Amino acid sequence: MIRKLLLRLVNGPSRPSAPRVISHSRHGVSRHAISACARRVTSTLQAEGFDAYVVGGAVRDLLLGREPKDFDVATNATPERVRGLFRRSRIIGRRFQLVHVLCGREVVEVSTFRGKHAGVDSERGATDEHGRILRDNVFGTREEDAVRRDFTVNALFYDPSSEEIIDYCGGLADLKDRKLRIIGDAEARYREDPVRMLRAVRLAAKLDLEIEHGTRAPIPELADLLESVPPSRLFEEMLKLLLSGGSAQCVQQLRALGLHHGLLPMLDVILEQPLGQRFVMLALQRTDERVRNDKPVSPGFLFAALLWHEVLSAWRNGEAAGKSTMLALFEAIDRVIEEQSANLAIPRRFSSDMREIWILQARLLNRSGRRPFALLGNPRFRAAYDFLLLRCESGELDMEIGEWWERFQHAGEEERRSMLLPGTGGRRRRRRRKKPKSRASDDVAPGQQ
Ligand code: ATP
Ligand code: MG
Repeated sequence: MIRKLLLRLVNGPSRPSAPRVISHSRHGVSRHAISACARRVTSTLQAEGFDAYVVGGAVRDLLLGREPKDFDVATNATPERVRGLFRRSRIIGRRFQLVHVLCGREVVEVSTFRGKHAGVDSERGATDEHGRILRDNVFGTREEDAVRRDFTVNALFYDPSSEEIIDYCGGLADLKDRKLRIIGDAEARYREDPVRMLRAVRLAAKLDLEIEHGTRAPIPELADLLESVPPSRLFEEMLKLLLSGGSAQCVQQLRALGLHHGLLPMLDVILEQPLGQRFVMLALQRTDERVRNDKPVSPGFLFAALLWHEVLSAWRNGEAAGKSTMLALFEAIDRVIEEQSANLAIPRRFSSDMREIWILQARLLNRSGRRPFALLGNPRFRAAYDFLLLRCESGELDMEIGEWWERFQHAGEEERRSMLLPGTGGRRRRRRRKKPKSRASDDVAPGQQ
């Protein structure tokens, strides 16, 4: 007992013991569950005398009876050696170098076992003053590779040739108990890479696991560390989270743990108003249903929904200050996008979708004259209409306007003409004569139908 304690003190608490090797008869994952491409990669590497395993999410998902989204391979061959063995492959990444091997349309990610690095800046490994890993290209052993992974359930190695699972961190037991547990000291691991806090929330929701107490407890205190993560990486992780099929639950968890401050700080304000809360939750639930039914989801639509009530209140304020409807809307959109980009860099291709969806919200309120006909031909009509329906369902707008557009879309020419509402009066027409090219002044104010 004392010897064990002494050994533990000498070796440090995070040093793993010998791995457990679990045979096929006990875990039940057959090599046939592994994609042909991943099998080809591991067998080619093994034939060259290297170690090669399927690792990470794929092993975890197979053990949970889920279909893996992709397959990652870990090996003791260097990226250059791997690159040399597969004709259709390329080395990618700087912070974390790995090799993409292609078979048809499938891509298998091959990473070389990572080891510990001294924490000082070198060509291969570097951390910043908070201990955040900036570069992680120090190679190591299989055991070191296991313990540098984030969660125990993500650190299982599967050998397709022997069908054995190698478990250094107790991931199999945690999976059985449905626990998501970080490997090593939670605080130190979050300091190394604050994105692990977001991964904890996402993986727990996606896999229906409980975040183990010690893994969860330090998060609220450390949430601010997300500020040091590049906004583009945060965006990628946020997107994965929103498209995980459990986004509604994830957003609630992010808030409970204080993690949304660094991502969507405006969410606080939005979710505090009953209408905003209903709208965002409805949008997320719809997204989750689509993801679970393998239907495509538009990230622009989703971010437009998350920030809509912020745009709406700025829009209303602008109008109350005497600005025209469209000017107030454009200014509101610019402000919200700019404020948001300080935290989370929403790529331009998505933010331009968001803008269009928001702008069309004003245009959809106009149901007289030629405008509704022109709108039907707009490539973003469908998205904007779906967005309008969410606004109706959440109680922000009268259901009648959504039903009107539903009917208008499917009606014949004659019926459409009969559905048009009378124009909104002389003031608008007078303005149009003055500024024949301006279309903006035609639009109707929010809530005015
Ligand atoms: P998903 O099902 O979403 O792909 P995943 O666990 O496979 O989940 P990936 O981003 O594909 O996630 O990462 C593959 C593996 O790499 C993980 O299972 C984990 O072992 C390791 N990993 C990924 N991100 C980190 C990180 N930030 N810190 C430590 N290990 C990580
Ligand atoms: Mg993966």
